[in-house]
Amino acid sequence: MNGYGGSILRVNLTTGQIKKEPTPADVARDYLGGRGFGIYYLLKEVPRGADPLGPENKMIISPGPLSGMLIPGGGKCDWTTKAPLTGGYAGSSMGGHFTAELKYAGLDSIILEGASQKPVYLFIDNDKIELRDAGEYWGKGSVTVEKMMKDKFGEEFQIAVIGPAGENMVSFAHINHDFGRQAGRGGVGAVLGSKKVKAVVVHGTKSVQVADMEAYRKAGMALYKACKDAEGLKEWTRYGTTIVTSWCNEVGALPTRNFSTGFFEGADGITGQTMRKKIVVTDKGCFGCPCPCGKYSKMNKYNSYVEGPEYETIGLFGSNLGIDDIEAVAQANLLCDDLGIDTITTGNVIGWAMECYEKGIFTKADTGGLELKFGNIEATFKMIEMISRKEGLGALLAEGVKRASKEIGRGSEKFAIHVKGMEQSAYETHNATAMLLAYMTCDVGAHHNRAWAITYDLQVGREKVTPEKVARVIWLQNFRPMFDVLGACRLQWVELGIDRDLYVPALEAITGIHRSWEDLDKVGDRIWNLTRLFWARENEGFGRTWDMPSPRFSEEPPKTGATKGQITSLENINLLLDMYYEQRGWDANGLPTPETLEKLRIPNEQFA
Ligand code: SF4
Repeated sequence: MNGYGGSILRVNLTTGQIKKEPTPADVARDYLGGRGFGIYYLLKEVPRGADPLGPENKMIISPGPLSGMLIPGGGKCDWTTKAPLTGGYAGSSMGGHFTAELKYAGLDSIILEGASQKPVYLFIDNDKIELRDAGEYWGKGSVTVEKMMKDKFGEEFQIAVIGPAGENMVSFAHINHDFGRQAGRGGVGAVLGSKKVKAVVVHGTKSVQVADMEAYRKAGMALYKACKDAEGLKEWTRYGTTIVTSWCNEVGALPTRNFSTGFFEGADGITGQTMRKKIVVTDKGCFGCPCPCGKYSKMNKYNSYVEGPEYETIGLFGSNLGIDDIEAVAQANLLCDDLGIDTITTGNVIGWAMECYEKGIFTKADTGGLELKFGNIEATFKMIEMISRKEGLGALLAEGVKRASKEIGRGSEKFAIHVKGMEQSAYETHNATAMLLAYMTCDVGAHHNRAWAITYDLQVGREKVTPEKVARVIWLQNFRPMFDVLGACRLQWVELGIDRDLYVPALEAITGIHRSWEDLDKVGDRIWNLTRLFWARENEGFGRTWDMPSPRFSEEPPKTGATKGQITSLENINLLLDMYYEQRGWDANGLPTPETLEKLRIPNEQFA
């Protein structure tokens, strides 16, 4: 098939059996690749009620038709599984160079199933595919192991690896690659840990057949030219996502002290400009990217290096913990990367614990003697280690804020900032109704990248609750994740503003099939509904209550900044959901109606 590697690799870790199956043409036609393949196999093959950390759960690793191709940012790989953090769908997109090697090894998905008795890693060098003993790597940090493996196999091998937190099945353990790119959210690293898979190592040299080489060359060049000509290229490349830090502080969206306000008085110490001046050594990008947003940093104070931090990490480990020192934030980033935990959830969960401590819910007896106050850098570093190793209070925090607050009680659920059990990423939403709705209805939990709607809020009036606003969120949710289906980065469209229609001829030249964005948006809508069905299938009583945000945003107005005194009322939160469900074709409890399933060609009985 044009644009595809041609094979699905199935690895049974229980039996050690490895086999290849031809990529089904109808699945490629209907689901395209990436997270489309992920949700297809998840619903089809993981039995209802499977323990996310049990052998019945599977990990589906998929490039898309644009992965590894000469288009800007064709370096995205999707990791889909049932999430240990939430018990729902997890689809996590990882950048870097891994996905291109998978494609050149002829693979459109790897399905990891079962569980190994002893630590192993999956080694792929074109058709040489083996499960190898990982004894010498188990227990070591992901940065250390990636370096060891690069030294052993060579630079051309790409490595995705878990840290000790993944081995310990911390519910928000991540997968690290390229010394700083992650499949970050939902606990995908814990699933690898439960299967005793330390790493996936891949190298491929096969060709990918394209439908029309000349048209492919032209369409690829047009995309690169649009990036090179973009007005924002210089600024974006200089700062990457950190460019928004000061803006967020100005508009009251920078999460501060566990999302109690959107204004941080120490923001100057953690802005993109400060970071560039103080710690950035060079820029670093993913496969084929003309606008590298990765920043490689040196922390003199700690004599260490890291790729990062990017904005989300700055928001959660900086302002959210009351830390105004960019070097300390970068060092926290490094600790999380090496130990193998998601920086967004970790910063959020430590923010919750700090608030518990300041309110007297935790004492020194709980924290192992740590003065767990906002702004305490050393206590933050220590907590990262304790979470990764599930030591002391770290064992509780390793469950995420939903389960931790339920266990502790004493009102701490009220300031546990999550949706569906996933901790909110770095936009404060007391009064940003589109962004709040985006978090409430996101298919993995309170994650920002499906519908980054905060600028739209500012554009049209942040407090407004209108059908147009809701429609915008839905449009973004259908469209933006399509990049995770195609296996490409969305940031060239988001940040450089290149015309999304430029991708249409590229996709056609590669696959030989014409698909307009209207067609692609329909695929996006279908996938969105399938992920919703997965949540409903796996969670008794799933529905509207699962879409509610933290009460903090409707009950506790910030005392500082641009959103001082402002909230989104419970009435407006429900109104947002009413409008959203209606526009999605869902019932009042937020479940797709039979008519919607029929319209989207979803065979209800297959997934029920
Ligand atoms: Fe990777 Fe950033 Fe380039 Fe996207 S913009 S491909 S995330 S380096």
